[in-house]
Amino acid sequence: MFVDIFVQKPDQRGDAINVVDVVCDGVKDAVGVDDRWFALRAVDWEVVKSGSPTIWVGVGQVATEHQRICSYCGRALPLVAFNKAKSLPLGVGRECRECRHAQTCADRDDRKRKRAAKAAKEAR
Ligand SMILES: [Zn+2]
Repeated sequence: MFVDIFVQKPDQRGDAINVVDVVCDGVKDAVGVDDRWFALRAVDWEVVKSGSPTIWVGVGQVATEHQRICSYCGRALPLVAFNKAKSLPLGVGRECRECRHAQTCADRDDRKRKRAAKAAKEAR
C-alpha cells in the first residue's frame, strides 16, 4: 500500500515529520491497516499565503497480478490461498480459503443447530 501526501501550509513553520506522522496515524485509523504496511510514495509541500491550507492524502494499493484481496478478511494473499472458481475472471473465489473454511464451518454449525432445534421441537 502506498500513501501520497500533499500539504499546503500558511507559512514555513511546522515540522514535516510531525505532519507525516499525524497523517499516517489518520490513515491507519481510516483503513485499519498498520502503518508499517504502507510506504510513503510522495510527500510534497506548498506554502499558501491566501485561502485555506489543505492536506491531500492519497491512499492506494499496487496491483499485483498474483495477489488477490480477500473480500472477507481484506488481506492481500497469493492466488493459491483462494479456492478455484472457474466462473470468475481471476479463476479463484472472492474469499480466501481460511475465510471460506470458517464460513463453511459456521454454516454447518448453524444447520446442525437448526436441525437439533427442530428435532427437539418435534420430540415434544
Ligand atoms: Zn480471508
